[in-house]
This record gives sequence, C-alpha cells and structure tokens, in this order.
Amino acid sequence: SNTAMGSSIKLARIPEDQREQSPALEMQGVAKDYGSLRVLNPIDMTVGSSEFLTLLGPSGSGKSTILSIAAGISEPSEGKVISRGRDVTFAPPHARNIGMVFQRYTLFPNKSVFDNVAFPLKVRGLPEVQKRGRVMHFLQLVGLEQLAKRFPSEISGGQAQRVALARALVFEPDLLLMDEPLGALDRRLRQNLQDEIRRIQIETRIPTLYVTHDQEEAMSMSDRIIILRAGDIVENDKPAAIYRSPRTLWSAQFLGDAN
Ligand code: ADP
Ligand code: MG
Repeated sequence: SNTAMGSSIKLARIPEDQREQSPALEMQGVAKDYGSLRVLNPIDMTVGSSEFLTLLGPSGSGKSTILSIAAGISEPSEGKVISRGRDVTFAPPHARNIGMVFQRYTLFPNKSVFDNVAFPLKVRGLPEVQKRGRVMHFLQLVGLEQLAKRFPSEISGGQAQRVALARALVFEPDLLLMDEPLGALDRRLRQNLQDEIRRIQIETRIPTLYVTHDQEEAMSMSDRIIILRAGDIVENDKPAAIYRSPRTLWSAQFLGDAN
C-alpha cells in the first residue's frame, strides 16, 4: 500500500531540498590554447550537485587540461567556469573549495599519515580538538586508522592513494577532482580501490570529476561519462546508454578496445 511505501522512502539519506542544489561546477564555452595550438575546443559541461562524472579519453585528448581549469591551476583561453553559481573563471586554487588526488607524489614525505590528512584543516585554522576527530573519521572512512603514525615511505602505493583521498575529503570540498588516481597501481589493487572510491563517494555525496583513460574503470564507477577525443566531447551520457548506443564509430571502437 501507499503507507508501507511511504515509510520505506524515509530511508533516503539526502533530503529533497539538498538534492536540488545548483551544480557543483559548470563550464560554459571553455577552450584552451597553448600559443597557436588549440588543445581544447569550446566545451559546455556540468557536474551535478552529488554526481560522479568521469572524463574518459585517450592520452592527449584534453582530460587533464579540463581538470586543471576546474582546479584553477590553469586559466581557460575562452569561456567561463561557474561553481555553485559563483564565477570562478580566474579564481586561484586556494579561493576554490576543491579536493584533489593525482596519480603520484601526492603526499608530503616528511609528514605522518595523520599530519598529511590534518594539513588542509591546519591551513583552514580548525581548532586542535575538532581536527583530531575529523582526521580519524576520514582515516576510518578509507580504512587506515591503524596507520595514522606511519610515514609515506612506510606504506604501500595503494595505501598512499587512500591517504590522499582522505586528505582531499577531510575539509568537505564542494568538488573532488581525481586525475588517474589509480594509474600507477596494479590491476587487482586498482579494482579494489575503484569499488572503495565509489562506495565513499556514494556515502559522502561529494560531487566528483574523475579522469581515466580506462574504459572499464569509467563504466564501473560513474553516474555519467564524458568521452573526449582531441579536445572535443564526443559522448556525454550514462554508462549504459553510451555502451548501448555510442554516437560515433570512433567511440564505439574506443569503448571496445581492451587496455
Ligand atoms: P590528457 O590528460 O587527456 O592525456 P592533456 O590535457 O594533458 O591530455 O593534454 C592535451 C593536449 O595539450 C596534449 O596534446 C598535450 O600535449 C597538450 N598540452 C598539455 N599541456 C601543455 C603545455 N603546458 N604546453 C603545450 N601543450 C600542452
Ligand atoms: Mg592527463
């Protein structure tokens, strides 16, 4: 009956009004030139308020260029970047509330795991008492609370990426950016961490823009996938829809290629 259905609907964690928030990020006509070389044609792109969006494409297609523009590391040659309704096109990284995880060299080698994760909170001036609880909560989220006192040289590559993820999430960013975070790991570990990252994103609802050149990774993790080819968006849809009916022969072939 309706009443029975009504009680089960209460299980949804996110209230309706919060779900309707403005997009985490919008790019409007964003293009990038290096000198006379155009590496990104004008693109329009939106990351929804709690979405996991993946940029997928071969090497050199412009994935990292888009991510560095989203982060404020690089300025677009054309177009606008809007974050939760605010124009941040020329705002530097520290003026954006963004968490980042890269492929490698992501941790401070001379700081403990705990201090690595605590760093963004220290920068933001969070009091010591609140800091400790928050850091341990996020270390627990990535399953590393036992390793808080270790140093980066004393943990594995997979563990280092978990620490990097905890550090990127600990200040509850408006947007999480990840550029091939599993690219340096072996296949088995990569699959474990794919599941882990997806679980954590679903749990935290932090909007995520994820970059990979691995088709299977994109298919298994994403709410939506944008496929890039030589600075152009050639697909933009849910994984199943792209897989079922790719819009170009090129993307059909790209999706069919094994890594
Ligand atoms: P992806 O991340 O998809 O591999 P990138 O966004 O890194 O691709 O690069 C897109 C294109 O832009 C490539 O052809 C690359 O060589 C070029 N490119 C990237 N950074 C620079 C730069 N600083 N100067 C000149 N060309 C660059
Ligand atoms: Mg790249």
